[in-house]
Amino acid sequence: MHHLEVRDLNKKFGSLQAVEGVSFSVEQGRLIGLLGPSGGGKTTLLRMLAGLERPDGGAISIGGRNVDALPPQDRGIGFVFQNYALFKHMTVVENIAFGLKVKKWERARIYQRVAELLALTGLIGLERRYPHQLSGGQRQRVAFARALAPEPQLLLLDEPFAAIDAKVRKELRTWLKEMISRVGVTSLFVTHDQEEAVEVADEILIMSQGRLEQKGTPWEIYRAPKTPFIATFIGESTALHDLTTLAPFAEAAVSIANKASLEGHDELQAFVRPESIEISRSHERQPSSAALPGVVSHVQFRGDAWHVEVQVGAQRLTARRPLAYEPLSLGEEVSVLVHRLYLFAGQQSWIVENP
Ligand code: ATP
Repeated sequence: MHHLEVRDLNKKFGSLQAVEGVSFSVEQGRLIGLLGPSGGGKTTLLRMLAGLERPDGGAISIGGRNVDALPPQDRGIGFVFQNYALFKHMTVVENIAFGLKVKKWERARIYQRVAELLALTGLIGLERRYPHQLSGGQRQRVAFARALAPEPQLLLLDEPFAAIDAKVRKELRTWLKEMISRVGVTSLFVTHDQEEAVEVADEILIMSQGRLEQKGTPWEIYRAPKTPFIATFIGESTALHDLTTLAPFAEAAVSIANKASLEGHDELQAFVRPESIEISRSHERQPSSAALPGVVSHVQFRGDAWHVEVQVGAQRLTARRPLAYEPLSLGEEVSVLVHRLYLFAGQQSWIVENP
């Protein structure tokens, strides 16, 4: 059985459909990244899970229990917000213990749980500090410990790293991922940051205009994006406006285009990722009938690869070239091999591969 089940969730604000027909399920202990453009419906979905917003329709079950009629405090949910929301006048220990006191846990049990959490979240030594005496990363760990204290069934994190500077943020992400897998609590975090979602999440949900566009592991989504929007949102890709310049693909692409138009879809969209394009000097590679002639129009050192732009007929392509190779020069003639292409028409998508 799935630990979190969401069935056909809908929410309108006036005439605006903020969440539309969203269904998904999550296994116990998975860390899910909720990603999408601003206004896509992420916060509304999170608030409905939490019981802070009432859906117009649909069903939510957590740990095998339908929670639709339950108020937030009875849903077994822990929260972490971007702005910590710690109680300023309470010490670290008091912050962590707060929810347990509200739930009327016995003193000895509270003491033991707080000690466990201090150890788990690396806060030993900071017990008597107040929030203003902590760094951003430490505060966020307190917020995390406080959310976990009552042993929630589901942890909801709303942009948990947004207020933290870049370096600490990277450390905290790794820390959070390890912590969640150790505790085994099913967790959902909202982020604006694609890189963060790809690096941290076991699975990603992409929401746009209230709808769930795709769900999968970061790798699945990267390898097989379902829509043009996702192809450019997760990882880089260049839109191709002139498929015919890509001679080796033309046959496959044209047959797909014909099929798509037969099915009534007007427009075929094609995308290629920079890492699917191989650019070489003539002596660097065996000649291939699939190779296209191109001219280098831009070269930039990017730390992990050469970022190269190349003109192939009327189409400009962005490519990556391993640093093991010498830099290319502007205006140099090169051979270009496209290994993989994404095509989209209507609700359908295809991957065309060059052997
Ligand atoms: P962001 O990434 O900017 O936080 P989001 O993906 O979380 O965006 P939501 O905050 O869920 O998106 O908003 C979805 C849509 O619903 C937006 O158009 C927003 O303006 C609208 N909306 C959200 N809450 C309300 C509300 N209480 N009343 C009216 N409209 C709302």
